[in-house]
Amino acid sequence: MFDYLVVGAGFAGSVLAERLASQDGAKVLVVEKRPHIAGNAYDHYDDAGILVHKYGPHIFHCNSPEIFAYLSRFTEWRPYQHRVLASVDGQLVPIPINLDTVNCLYGLNLTSFQLEDFFASVAERRERIETSEDVVVSKVGRDLYNKFFRGYTRKQWGLDPSELDAQVTARIPTRTNRDDRYFTDRFQSMPLHGYTRMFERMLDHPNIKVMLNTDYREVEPFIPYREMIYTGPIDAYFDYRHGKLPYRSLEFAFETIDTPNYQPVGTVNYPNDYDYTRITEFKHLTGQEHPKTTIVYEYPRAEGDPYYPVPRAENTERYKRYQALAEVTPNVHFVGRLATYKYYNMDQVVAQALTIFERISTSRRLLTGPVSRNSPPAEVAATVTGAISSNGNGKSDATVP
Ligand SMILES: Cc1cc2nc3c(=O)[nH]c(=O)nc-3n(C[C@H](O)[C@H](O)[C@H](O)COP(=O)(O)OP(=O)(O)OC[C@H]3O[C@@H](n4cnc5c(N)ncnc54)[C@H](O)[C@@H]3O)c2cc1C
Repeated sequence: MFDYLVVGAGFAGSVLAERLASQDGAKVLVVEKRPHIAGNAYDHYDDAGILVHKYGPHIFHCNSPEIFAYLSRFTEWRPYQHRVLASVDGQLVPIPINLDTVNCLYGLNLTSFQLEDFFASVAERRERIETSEDVVVSKVGRDLYNKFFRGYTRKQWGLDPSELDAQVTARIPTRTNRDDRYFTDRFQSMPLHGYTRMFERMLDHPNIKVMLNTDYREVEPFIPYREMIYTGPIDAYFDYRHGKLPYRSLEFAFETIDTPNYQPVGTVNYPNDYDYTRITEFKHLTGQEHPKTTIVYEYPRAEGDPYYPVPRAENTERYKRYQALAEVTPNVHFVGRLATYKYYNMDQVVAQALTIFERISTSRRLLTGPVSRNSPPAEVAATVTGAISSNGNGKSDATVP
């Protein structure tokens, strides 16, 4: 008998499995349909011996000391600040747009104060900010919008920015200083030995069993368990009864090149040329030294693995109908990006999983009384107390707390 059946071995499933096993003494079975743990954060050494991210570049960044401390139990870190350049008008310039981007592109020599005036002079007035186009043109004007955002967004989403919710481009800041870091979070690091190693350590607990290459539906009827942690797509759980939730997918094309370095920064964006959106060179992210290098091209696709929920009002409405079903489904906890149909960064999924663990753990404690930290599972405890009883202390098992 398992206490929990966890569907999916990504951040959501693995964090919950780890917490439930190590803190509540629960017995956990993790079922993962892919041939590996770590979900979309999975990394591995390719044929040339270079550490690559199978599902696209994953850079860890967060502002929460608690999340960083939690993950630090399972990995050491390599400090890394991601930098991205965009190939525009034959030049490589920083993105997010900053002082150097504008000075390089237009051959200017503005100061930060002058750049604020420049943006004010080119920005288009908008009464209401509703679409991704509104967000950008109201901040940096039409020319920079066309150069950096319009083509990239059309490739990435197969939709014009005017057809997408504001939140898509609202994630990308504009700066008037020379800060060329892609993220400004307090903690920016990569797991020193990779994500997969970090997940191995997270799941390395005697109460956790992991079953790979298995869709949970194949085994669920035969496995006795009390509650489920479900981190797969929410529409699939309910057999698509309200229709499919749309996702944008990506195809990754990896290439190993016989040169130590390929490009000056981790990622170069191609907003206007080629079918791919960006090229990432992994050695920048991992710090690995190797005579060769591996890069990955990202080609956006309409079909394929579900990567990005498509942020449009009608999709949010459809998700809400699934969410309503989830709320009345007893003993199943829906966690993570696919089960909540949201684009979350890794730290946000860890935060969500830790919050849900606290909720589950608290309600379990209220029902069954306190469980000591790292206590053995109920069955193990019963065996131990049984052994004491049969040693002749005269107490029946039932009276041992
Ligand atoms: C291209 C790309 C780049 C990204 N870059 C970053 C980044 O730089 N920084 C960052 O913080 N975040 C990044 N993210 C987001 C990050 O990938 C997610 O936050 C994180 O992987 C979510 O974890 P999860 O556990 O919710 O989902 P997942 O990692 O997808 O894990 C869910 C798991 O459930 C399994 N599963 C689904 N259905 C079933 C089933 N029926 N039976 C068994 N198993 C099942 C899946 O195979 C999968 O392994 C990126 C995402 C993408 C797509």
